[in-house]
Amino acid sequence: MTDPRAAARRVVVKVGSGVLAGRGEGLDGAVLRRLAGEIAAARAGGREVVLVSSGAILAGRERLRLPARPDTRLKQAAAAVGQSRLMRAWEAAFARRGRTVAQVLLTADDLRERARYLNARATLQTLLRLGVVPVVNENDTVAVDEIKFGDNDGLSALVAGLVDASLLVLLTDQDGLFTDDPRVNPDARLIARVRPGESPPRIGRAGPSGTGGMESKVRAAGRAAENGISAVIASGAKSGVLSALLAGSERGTRFEAVEKPLAKRRQWLAFASQPKGRIVVDAGAREALVARSKSLLATGVRSLTGAFAPGDVVSLVEGGVEFARGLSNFGAGDLERIRGLKSSQIEATLGHKPADEVVHRDNLAVLKR
Ligand code: GLU
Repeated sequence: MTDPRAAARRVVVKVGSGVLAGRGEGLDGAVLRRLAGEIAAARAGGREVVLVSSGAILAGRERLRLPARPDTRLKQAAAAVGQSRLMRAWEAAFARRGRTVAQVLLTADDLRERARYLNARATLQTLLRLGVVPVVNENDTVAVDEIKFGDNDGLSALVAGLVDASLLVLLTDQDGLFTDDPRVNPDARLIARVRPGESPPRIGRAGPSGTGGMESKVRAAGRAAENGISAVIASGAKSGVLSALLAGSERGTRFEAVEKPLAKRRQWLAFASQPKGRIVVDAGAREALVARSKSLLATGVRSLTGAFAPGDVVSLVEGGVEFARGLSNFGAGDLERIRGLKSSQIEATLGHKPADEVVHRDNLAVLKR
């Protein structure tokens, strides 16, 4: 049987700082050269690779001789110093293989606006077409909590969706996801596969790894899988792991992709968009949306908050829980006047009727979390 990963044409590879540091304090050039070699080989084999690389703070901290746990401002300063060093190191590593790299810095905020999301997507696609290896990192200089991805694991899952990758590889300093922390429990076993809908056991105890820990890797891999992208958590500390994975052999922990993922537009709604308001609906409306894939009508709307305009993303809430996101056909002011009414009463109430539905089923993503 051929492994689907062997056929993966477009791949996102995320490398954590723990891997890039090797055994030292700053970036380990030998590790970068090894990974660049494996990525260049994949590229020569017809695969397109986007690299998501951490390591800016690591490199800056070493250069500035900062303490091991600097505060946020110092971290941002370190990232600004370290990012150019990181790129220089990748550039040198890839130049040996005749490959050009591109720096792509993103914040979560950049991908929340649909137009900017589409722009980022187009630029990445163009770079890949030109044979360039995009090196993506979070734009730490401007990223504060509200506009942060939080960690590069989450960023890599979004980037994988952005470029329609068929595989996401999260390289870390552990062999994969274990049933328990392997450094403490000698009986801990590597989990080879996580199937769609299966929740991986006892993640919290699987041991720390990188900024977000194993938990953020599992979340990122799960999110990619839900979007139809198979994801692997594997060791980046060992040579040849990436090449082996791309050749189709089993390494680390694989999260199998769901067969029928959400359409692209819905993926953006569910995972990248920033709602401008909340619409509280009744239980009947929730049931119609979730179980019967219907549109949201004014009659099911109980209350709303936020100053959203027509076309904005809104959260749909029932029983205090956000269960879907969608694009509202009405602004908050108009919706306040027609909530609870039948569609046939909209025109008489507003003097115009932009749409029959408040949120059309095509512009709606039901959330699985
Ligand atoms: N953007 C950070 C850096 O380049 C790393 C964030 C992470 O490791 O998740 O140092």
